[in-house]
Amino acid sequence: VVCFIGRSNVGKSSLIKALFSLAPEVEVRVSKKPGHTKKMNFFKVGKHFTVVDMPGYGYRAPEDFVDMVETYLKERRNLKRTFLLVDSVVGIQKTDNIAIEMCEEFALPYVIVLTKIDKSSKGHLLKQVLQIQKFVNTKTQGCFPQLFPVSSVTFSGIHLLRSFIASVTGNLD
Ligand code: GDP
Repeated sequence: VVCFIGRSNVGKSSLIKALFSLAPEVEVRVSKKPGHTKKMNFFKVGKHFTVVDMPGYGYRAPEDFVDMVETYLKERRNLKRTFLLVDSVVGIQKTDNIAIEMCEEFALPYVIVLTKIDKSSKGHLLKQVLQIQKFVNTKTQGCFPQLFPVSSVTFSGIHLLRSFIASVTGNLD
């Protein structure tokens, strides 16, 4: 099992669709429940993927943090990697930091994926990538040292991420 976690609208379901459209034999159904709560929402995609949606606001850390971590760790059995999606346009936000803290505190192996790289200029993207890379190098322990910049629109970076996931899980179904 691998987990995709990130703020609402960061591009989780688009990324999963992009990853799977390169493997059309796998059916993609991201079951989004209507109605937004202020808690994390878990969605299963097939047998091996879990998507965790974090609302971008409304956390009253540390109270909600405890809840969140407990829910997450219930899924920990068989959890091979956590992919934390960060919007490359805006960089690491408060909610992203909560997820990073959680992964660090519980020593979960995680990987940062930069989404929507088609949206900014090369200069802006480079600046964000360097800033986040520096953060990963200096402020994290459990984060995979390589970032995965992707676009679910142009499919840039999708093959590379897909190979990485396959190497972690053994297969993609
Ligand atoms: P989720 O809430 O994290 O599942 O986010 P979605 O996958 O639903 O994406 C949120 C919005 O961002 C949608 O309007 C998508 O079309 C858009 N989006 C997602 N990925 C990309 C991308 O790689 N490039 C661009 N330009 N837009 C994207």
